[in-house]
Amino acid sequence: MLVDSHCHLDQIDLSQKEGGLASVIADAKSRGVQRILSVAVDIKSSIYLSELSQSYSCLMTSVGVHPLHKSDDSLVSVDDLVSLTELPGVVAIGETGLDKFYSSATFEWQRESFINHLQASDISGKPVIIHTRDAVDETLELLAEFKPSPRGVIHCFTESWEMAEAAIELGFYISFSGIITFNNASDLRVVASKIPLDRLLIETDSPWLTPAPHRGKNNEPKYVLEVAQCLANLHGIPLEELAQITTQNFDRLFKTKD
Ligand SMILES: [Zn+2]
Ligand SMILES: [Zn+2]
Repeated sequence: MLVDSHCHLDQIDLSQKEGGLASVIADAKSRGVQRILSVAVDIKSSIYLSELSQSYSCLMTSVGVHPLHKSDDSLVSVDDLVSLTELPGVVAIGETGLDKFYSSATFEWQRESFINHLQASDISGKPVIIHTRDAVDETLELLAEFKPSPRGVIHCFTESWEMAEAAIELGFYISFSGIITFNNASDLRVVASKIPLDRLLIETDSPWLTPAPHRGKNNEPKYVLEVAQCLANLHGIPLEELAQITTQNFDRLFKTKD
């Protein structure tokens, strides 16, 4: 049994997909994917994904505003985030975090928004899903300062071993996407091979970052199998064992065991 710990079902282009979302989910199940966490990028998607999660038992969701989804000057408040976690199907807060690679201009807004999400995580007891790119020190500083009690995961990890080690030390999990299957990702594969198995999660981040050998196609939760296989090879364990461990980790972090 596999888990896709991070995807964006509301961003997938379904016009090319016969059977629509139902077949995206059926295809995932046919490859062993039994749980899918569809992550919100703004308030609208938080509400939409909560409604959607009520139609599929394998589906769960988060509430939050992505660091690259600043729509105006408004900031989502701690209180609003905490009350959104009461919606059905919500198991996490995010995604939130810091991204100086794509947008350093909004950094102050990103920082304030991140702090609000960290505080809402602590109050609500829902783990936080963190996006980080080119902001290693700033991200680690805020995680250490506001360290929410349920902790959380650094998703789509592409940074150094030093950052992974520091985040693990603080109690966080590390999640890898299809990037680890890319030809040019040998440094990242070395980092992934060193992550303790009990802190490892897998994701697709679909519809982006389709793993090899499916590059060029739209990404879907079914391709989390390729991410799992790559990580199993890196850790020198059978696929079944990697699948079981990452599913247990997911259930422990998000309290989703049925
Ligand atoms: Zn992200
Ligand atoms: Zn994402």
